[in-house]
Amino acid sequence: MKIQFLGTAASEGFPDAFCDCDNCTGARRLGGPSLRKRSAALIDDILLIDLGPDLMAAALVHNLSLAKIEYCLQTHEHEDHLEPRNLAWRSQFCGVYGNPMLHYYATEGALAKLAADIGRRALGGLGEGSEASVALNVTTHVVAPFQTYQVGPYRVSTVKGHHDPEHLVPLLYLIERDGRTLFYATDTGEIPEETWQALQGRKIDVVAMDHTFGFQKRSNGHMNAEQFQEQMARMQADGLLNSGARVFAHHIAHHSHPPHSELSAYAEGKGYAVAYDGLVVAI
Ligand SMILES: [Zn+2]
Ligand SMILES: [Zn+2]
Ligand SMILES: [Zn+2]
Repeated sequence: MKIQFLGTAASEGFPDAFCDCDNCTGARRLGGPSLRKRSAALIDDILLIDLGPDLMAAALVHNLSLAKIEYCLQTHEHEDHLEPRNLAWRSQFCGVYGNPMLHYYATEGALAKLAADIGRRALGGLGEGSEASVALNVTTHVVAPFQTYQVGPYRVSTVKGHHDPEHLVPLLYLIERDGRTLFYATDTGEIPEETWQALQGRKIDVVAMDHTFGFQKRSNGHMNAEQFQEQMARMQADGLLNSGARVFAHHIAHHSHPPHSELSAYAEGKGYAVAYDGLVVAI
């Protein structure tokens, strides 16, 4: 299995187009891995995590085609992770034909936002076999925390993050293939106890986890570096990490992090790495 990060920024992107802080100015000057689009990831070129607002830019910058994606796992419905109009852009409405059916997995709340935002093209609903589902070439599947199901060649388990609990249900995903496991864990604050319980007995090879507030104070719905390291330590203490497991900081906000090289040097000293846009990791 391999993961390619298509975007690794928090909601506003890094640099934030409207910001001239030292971090944004430094990122513009240095370019390369310091330039971060909104978070999304691609597994083995066929499974997408999050139908995000920067997919078009990611495909362009990293010279990728997303025509072959067959599956999409949605973490939650915040705007920096879900741009429903992507579905129209990969369908006959925009002159695209012959792609595989996209199996789209999301919570009830995310599916409601998807149907509302895609407007008249979703009239009649996106249920399996419906007119809209056929026209948009998508089949939706409702998922909830603490379920395990088969997604093509992947065994996928959902657990619950701690993120905007009054408005949505945030999903973190364990994705397994050929005995290897990825834990995709953004956006979340400190991992809830019920999720730790659900993770017991798992062996994880690669973790991509929320680091939104980096060098700022501790956060509730996201994590700073200290909280990130505490979750890592708990994973180690609970025996959840396979030998040789790698942990990556993800969802990096401009207000809390220096450009990539400086941030990476810090993380390396603490035993983890920092994801960047375009990075491919073999799992
Ligand atoms: Zn986010
Ligand atoms: Zn800034
Ligand atoms: Zn969010």
